[in-house]
Amino acid sequence: MVLKKLFTSFVFLILFFGVLKVSAQDKSEYYSCNTSLWIDNQQIENDSTFLTQNYSLLVPLHTVKILGATYEWDPEIWRIRIRTESRNLTMYIANNNCANQTKIEKMPAKPTIHNGTILIPIRYVAEALGAKVAWNGKTDSVFVSTTGDIPEDFYGSTKEAETVEVLRNRIIVLDPGHGGSDPGAVAWNVKEKDLNLQVAKILKEMLQNGGATVYMTRTEDRYIGLYTRADIANNLNADLFVSIHHNASSNSGARGVMTLYYPSSKNTKMNGQKFAKIVQKNLVNDLNARDWGIIPRPNLVVTRETRMPAVLAELGFMTNKSELERLVTYEFQYQAAKSLFKSITEALR
Ligand SMILES: [Zn+2]
Repeated sequence: MVLKKLFTSFVFLILFFGVLKVSAQDKSEYYSCNTSLWIDNQQIENDSTFLTQNYSLLVPLHTVKILGATYEWDPEIWRIRIRTESRNLTMYIANNNCANQTKIEKMPAKPTIHNGTILIPIRYVAEALGAKVAWNGKTDSVFVSTTGDIPEDFYGSTKEAETVEVLRNRIIVLDPGHGGSDPGAVAWNVKEKDLNLQVAKILKEMLQNGGATVYMTRTEDRYIGLYTRADIANNLNADLFVSIHHNASSNSGARGVMTLYYPSSKNTKMNGQKFAKIVQKNLVNDLNARDWGIIPRPNLVVTRETRMPAVLAELGFMTNKSELERLVTYEFQYQAAKSLFKSITEALR
């Protein structure tokens, strides 16, 4: 069992980072990678300079010129400044704080110097400069668009998804937990409501590309009551309901995924429990996460009051520092969404 676990994590690491570890800085290490980067249909040469940290791609600083920005490097104090007409970013080597205009934000990875080249986390920087960023895990490529258009054929997986016949004419309701005055769990300044919404948005896009009709109980940072959430799904007569959450525990070592459902005696072809089983199995495998299993929760409003098969997925523990570092990355959120996508198609079959 232990050996198998070790082996799986090793394969997982190779998949995400390639094999070569280049330097250790703090707890999260940098790895070289073969990710290809496109900016507005122009491929940026990797030249084995790209690194990843925390699932985030770091590329040479000069790349920002293609995004229409200028940069300054101050080697005395290790300061990087990136500017456009309307934006001003300041960051430092080995530090994941970034001053974005007047706000201090946490970047998913720390700028670093490798073989004399200054590297910056491209997704964060590009988005801060107003570009749109997409990642295709299958081809391991990142597309940055300054116009906001991602080429239709960028997601090879979209094409596959189009053939998911089972999604056609189906109504899926996605429920990003919490929102507005209710942040959900909060750890190291990260709010659960934001993570829930991020994953839901990615999943919505995947399902829509697959031909499903998708509604979200909220699309922005807004408070929505629990009964309202269930009503939305019931009024739409949705086929499935998926509530997306992240966990917290007083035990900071706790990590992993669990799926909650409402225990019902109705033995229909698909019910909450069966759906939960599918969701949990896929999350554990796809995220290489610790398995807390499926848990019946008779008092959970959203799964109890909805009349279609419904689950509440807890995608990880925000109170575990190293797990949280993973949860905040787009790459993790994409994998989680992909896993839920798979479960939804499986449940509809
Ligand atoms: Zn929650």
